Amino acid sequence: MALRLHNTLTRRVEPFAPLDPVAGPTMYLCGPTVYNYVHIGNARGPVVFDVLAALLRRRYGALRYARNITDVDDKINAAAREAGVPISDITERFTAVYLEEMAALGVEPQSLQPKATEHIPQIIAMIERLIERGNAYAAEGHVLFSVGSYPDYGKLSRQSPEDMLAGARVDVAPYKQDPGDFVLWKPSTDDLPGWESPWGRGRPGWHIECSAMAEAHLGDTIDIHAGGVDLQFPHHENEVAQSECAHGGKPFARFWLHNGMLVFGGSKMSKSLGNVERIHTLLERYPGRSEALRYALLSAHYRQPLDWTPALVDQSIRTLDRLYGTLRDLSDVEATPVIPQSIEDMLDDDLNTPQALAEIARLAGEARKAEGADARREAKSALLGAGLALGLLQRAPSEWIEGVTSNDDDARIQGLIDERIAAKAAKDFARADAIRRQLADDGILLEDTPQGVRWKRA
Ligand SMILES: [Zn+2]
Repeated sequence: MALRLHNTLTRRVEPFAPLDPVAGPTMYLCGPTVYNYVHIGNARGPVVFDVLAALLRRRYGALRYARNITDVDDKINAAAREAGVPISDITERFTAVYLEEMAALGVEPQSLQPKATEHIPQIIAMIERLIERGNAYAAEGHVLFSVGSYPDYGKLSRQSPEDMLAGARVDVAPYKQDPGDFVLWKPSTDDLPGWESPWGRGRPGWHIECSAMAEAHLGDTIDIHAGGVDLQFPHHENEVAQSECAHGGKPFARFWLHNGMLVFGGSKMSKSLGNVERIHTLLERYPGRSEALRYALLSAHYRQPLDWTPALVDQSIRTLDRLYGTLRDLSDVEATPVIPQSIEDMLDDDLNTPQALAEIARLAGEARKAEGADARREAKSALLGAGLALGLLQRAPSEWIEGVTSNDDDARIQGLIDERIAAKAAKDFARADAIRRQLADDGILLEDTPQGVRWKRA
């Protein structure tokens, strides 16, 4: 079976082949705006599309894959003002943090990692082209994209013009010819980052950055554009409009892939609900267990919502305990990873990672039963190969098994106790009881004292 992917443009699963089979496929993923620690939901796209990138490299020998960094944005300006530091302090710090976190989650570093501030000439050139072609206009130091000039506007998100207006944060700015028009360039005051342009000193809007960076590194038409489903409108719709108008109607992306959102106990992750799980916090809470975070992120199909709970992480840790235990029992056997055809078929089926994880469990079961040198070697090759395809099981088993020191375990227990206190405060008694039971299962006894909760090992 050949690779088939769900394309948001057609709302269908379609066979994939690159436009240029010799040079190999091209892929673009919208990256983070670097002004804070990102939450675990922001890692789902990079992890899922990392599995796809590895598959495309295996299949075609080469892949040009760009994952951008948005390092000019009003949220960054606000964060710098609040902290009283230069903007570059914020962007450099959180770019480094983000890349470290992606590495911890096993996401391959990209050779193409364009930053918006390094593409200002390309952004200005693209805006000039849009003005020349009658798709954009300058007004009061701003440049706006004229939505009415592009009849296909809305083809990706398939919303009616009324819905798009309601969905967009409608700005009744007087310089807009149509309320749906969106900003390509805006003026900067002296205290804000800005670049000289034909429209005065200013800075780009967010949408045009991705169009210009994709063009600069991957050409006019790219094979795959990926991102979170929350970016479909307006961000991706606007990218399509800008790029197709700037390129004389040539298609921008042949395949649009959108990953679903993370939910937390059924509700959306949001700052106002206080249920934001930052990657940074999770790495601290589960030291030596970042691979389990990756496993958890792959445990649901990428287009479905993923319910992120502490139980999901715990279960992923226990599963990896078993899988690495199997590999440890096979440590007397020399084997090189060979990706089983069953795994390739499951990933070819629109990246069915939950099925592939179930297959890994099945292969581990076979490996435990295997007898004789040849059968054990083959079983280990298949298990390692299946793991390789998903970016799992590539460490020495001893590193995983002994990786957690007692200090780390203490931190994990304290994390659970803190979470139980928070659950009680939020009157989530079911969760609080579940944590107490889990700790009891691990042989941890809790004691409420005037100084707070103490714990000891039974
Ligand atoms: Zn983008």
